[in-house]
Amino acid sequence: MNQDAESVTIRGIEKSFGRTKVLRGVDLAIERREFVILLGPSGCGKTTLLRIIAGLERAEAGEIRIGERRVDQLEPKERNVAMVFQSYALYPHMNVFNNQSFSLRLRRMAKDDIRDRVNRAAKTLGLEQLLERYPRELSGGQRQRVSMGRAIVRSPKVFLFDEPLSNLDAQLRVHMRGEIKDLHHQLDTTSVYVTHDQVEAMTMGDRIVVMNGGIIEQIGSPLEVFDKPKNRFVAGFVGSPAMNFVDGELTTSGSGLELRVAGRANIPLGEAGVGRTSGRATIGIRPHHLRITADGPMRSLVKDVQPTGVETILLCRWADSEMLVQTTDRVGVPAGQEIGLSVDPADIHLFDSETGERLDV
Ligand code: ATP
Repeated sequence: MNQDAESVTIRGIEKSFGRTKVLRGVDLAIERREFVILLGPSGCGKTTLLRIIAGLERAEAGEIRIGERRVDQLEPKERNVAMVFQSYALYPHMNVFNNQSFSLRLRRMAKDDIRDRVNRAAKTLGLEQLLERYPRELSGGQRQRVSMGRAIVRSPKVFLFDEPLSNLDAQLRVHMRGEIKDLHHQLDTTSVYVTHDQVEAMTMGDRIVVMNGGIIEQIGSPLEVFDKPKNRFVAGFVGSPAMNFVDGELTTSGSGLELRVAGRANIPLGEAGVGRTSGRATIGIRPHHLRITADGPMRSLVKDVQPTGVETILLCRWADSEMLVQTTDRVGVPAGQEIGLSVDPADIHLFDSETGERLDV
């Protein structure tokens, strides 16, 4: 177990650029050796938060601690963190060895120690044969590995990753996801990883921090966030294809709570502890929870059929809502046909239409 790994504690961080408030009081406690993902749409402030942890930006309010030590007034190099950038940020005129050893040479570390560290990192990352090459002679994935190597040689207390895979093609991205996860387990260090790709977030993190408009919307394990999104924003952002939403009016019938959807149908909501029996509400249904059944209560018009090989996505219209249906069946329904859709009440998420907060707990 890596005894050097440190926790990161973020309290009340606020940051503006000019008159634009980018972070509005962010609190987050990251445990030692945890792999935490900052996930959110473009512009939500995740990169800014990472740069504030690194010391590349200064917050106007709040504090950052690495372990017990308060670091927000320290220079980046005094914080003992290493950052891996989306752009790799390699020095083009230096070969791989020199790129990796640069920060150690700046620190005037002994030559033998430098060689040891670079060789160890190169072995971990499979770069041993490439130490003499220049960045222009490397593939995207190899460059990304060099930039990770440059972080590893410094033995930081915390690794910060800023969308490190977004410049890679889809196949390589899947491969590198595995490599970064492996690396995290090998090095056993605290990692904070920024991405807007929710598949990356789901597959890599111990915990996901979902951000939106400069605040944290939810913190939880990938499956907690997926299965129990705290509000409509998280529900709509996490999961691909995205969750379907339908607005209606809560009502009770002999069989329990239902959502009445204007002039269409009543959707039974089952036993969920909603604590409310009337008023406007929004239901959320994940595309893979919709079933195509002859007598399904949601009579929907199929607008497009998208087979991917493994599964089929149907784009349908029901009431005033677009409905995505995801099925592993090879459905032979043509566009323009009407189908019946049904859902198990246990799979329905329920949100307040006004506040977007989750109603069933
Ligand atoms: P992306 O996924 O697109 O990188 P992000 O969530 O990482 O988005 P940030 O890069 O943190 O978002 O940016 C948050 C907001 O702050 C954006 O509106 C951005 O335009 C603004 N911003 C970021 N850096 C600066 C800067 N140096 N000067 C002015 N505005 C900035």
